[in-house]
Amino acid sequence: MHTDHPLVDAARRFVADCVAPRLDAGDPPWLDGALARSAAGFGLLGITVPAAFGGADAGFMAKARVSEELSRADFGLAMALINSHNVADNLARNADPEVARRYVSEIVAGRLAACTALTEPGAGSDFASITTTARQDGGEWVLDGTKAWIINATRSGVVILYAQTQPGSGAAGIASFVVDASRAGFVREAPLTRALPALGTGAFRLVGYRASANEMLVPPGQAFKRALTSINGARIYVAAMCCGMVGAALDVAIAYGGARHSFGKPLLAHQAWRHALADAAVELEAARLLVYDAARRLENGEDVQGGAARAKVFATGMAQRQLTALLHAMGAAGLSDRHPFLRHLESAQAAAFTDGSTEMLKERIAREFGSQA
Ligand SMILES: Cc1cc2nc3c(=O)[nH]c(=O)nc-3n(C[C@H](O)[C@H](O)[C@H](O)COP(=O)(O)OP(=O)(O)OC[C@H]3O[C@@H](n4cnc5c(N)ncnc54)[C@H](O)[C@@H]3O)c2cc1C
Repeated sequence: MHTDHPLVDAARRFVADCVAPRLDAGDPPWLDGALARSAAGFGLLGITVPAAFGGADAGFMAKARVSEELSRADFGLAMALINSHNVADNLARNADPEVARRYVSEIVAGRLAACTALTEPGAGSDFASITTTARQDGGEWVLDGTKAWIINATRSGVVILYAQTQPGSGAAGIASFVVDASRAGFVREAPLTRALPALGTGAFRLVGYRASANEMLVPPGQAFKRALTSINGARIYVAAMCCGMVGAALDVAIAYGGARHSFGKPLLAHQAWRHALADAAVELEAARLLVYDAARRLENGEDVQGGAARAKVFATGMAQRQLTALLHAMGAAGLSDRHPFLRHLESAQAAAFTDGSTEMLKERIAREFGSQA
């Protein structure tokens, strides 16, 4: 039997103490400085980060389960926290030691927000077609281009950014860099959407931005492949977040169905009404089995490309279907600001794009059918 890492309980306490009061007051749980430092106090910005940098050095399952717990409250908050955390983990393990020392402990302490930027206005699913360029100038790299739809872009102090070093060479020329948002040449743009405010999704431009040689994180020839490998983990924790949202919505609907009466009895006593909730419970359990199996296999170092894709396709679709059904079961109350249904539904839609859209993941799954597919 799986025993949860203590950080899962820490995530529950963080939500109860620091997030629920904001939601009750009708405020989206923006990951502002105060909330980020509170999360850091519960250890949530250092889950898999090496202990030498103040992290807990936990395994991937702990990260997936923490993601699920946080997302019960708000998917945007969960994504914002985990995306900052991922940058700390990546820099601690892969950056030049001097660069890692500059940023990692600050992120883990919640004093610095961080993001990872692949997507551009003209390149999303087709990551190899990015046009942000990195050109060598003496011992430095000069970066130019625009990134869009980046979680935490509105507040990040440090960015892991992908750029093309040899235009025309596709995946082979892509490298990743550590970019400091306080330096000349980093220009933040207005947010692209008012949806999911806790995500802090935004855009920025690099205009003659200069990175030193030791700020190249992963060189051309390796960066594209590494990005696609690490995205498997993201697919699994996004799927876990979908389970968190549906689990929370199901709990609300069950409680409501016990208290709300129609035709002289609780909603829960109407067979047709409770069958909708039973369907949600079945699909949620099936999604969790896919997610936990993929998380366990990733933690064990197995190949999870197919498993991560299957978990995310099923869990995001499950959330889109079941959040709609659960909202419907609540009647008009499902639309109330007091309840999470609309916020979670919007989040499920975003989950179906981020870290690989449903269509791209189905293509990945279909590759297992053989060379005819
Ligand atoms: C909330 C949110 C947060 C995000 N956070 C980040 C982040 O932190 N960092 C980052 O780099 N990016 C981020 N993204 C971007 C995300 O990775 C992209 O949205 C995703 O890769 C899809 O790209 P796109 O939106 O440009 O759609 P496109 O690639 O333009 O695709 C448009 C539609 O066409 C479909 N499609 C495309 N090609 C095919 C095909 N060959 N066959 C069938 N269908 C196809 C897609 O599935 C999609 O439905 C975020 C996006 C969202 C919505």
